[in-house]
Amino acid sequence: MKATSPSPGPWNPARLDARRFAEANGRLQGELAVGELTRLEADLHPEGLVGRAASVAWQADGELRGAEQAAASSVWLHMQAQATVPLTCQRCLGPVQMPLVVDRWFRFVATEAQAEAQDDDAEEDLLALEPRPDLLAVLEDELLMALPLVPMHEVCPQTLPSSAGTLLEAPDSETRRENPFQALSKLKK
Ligand SMILES: [Zn+2]
Repeated sequence: MKATSPSPGPWNPARLDARRFAEANGRLQGELAVGELTRLEADLHPEGLVGRAASVAWQADGELRGAEQAAASSVWLHMQAQATVPLTCQRCLGPVQMPLVVDRWFRFVATEAQAEAQDDDAEEDLLALEPRPDLLAVLEDELLMALPLVPMHEVCPQTLPSSAGTLLEAPDSETRRENPFQALSKLKK
């Protein structure tokens, strides 16, 4: 069911009134330059940012769930984001463009103490209604968690040192690899 949208805001993403946002089925969306997210930017390959405007497209939707009366229902927020950022390839150390995707539901509880106390038992992520959350800080946390542990080119632009390449490709490597088993089967006989 789509509620006839009440007044669209104005919502303050830096201090979001999450309950009102959910009651109104509020939506916030935007596009951020990666340079505005300093913790994320610190993890990126500097050469990969040269001449390229890396940005994060994000959207947050509020939703009330679970009760007929708004006061008793729970407050949820759906955070989604997409970005392509340059990371450091763990094989060649060059920049590799990697997609980051965030798609996360948060449930709000009254205070940060409650969020911490319930966090281990809850499957969903918890946020506190008060103090009001900074959505962009939440978004940046999620982007940092979405970073791949071992970013790598599928095929690195630089070729590997020729010695390693020829060893791997040597036509007799297959037979060499089989030798221990052949030796074993001879022993068994
Ligand atoms: Zn590489």
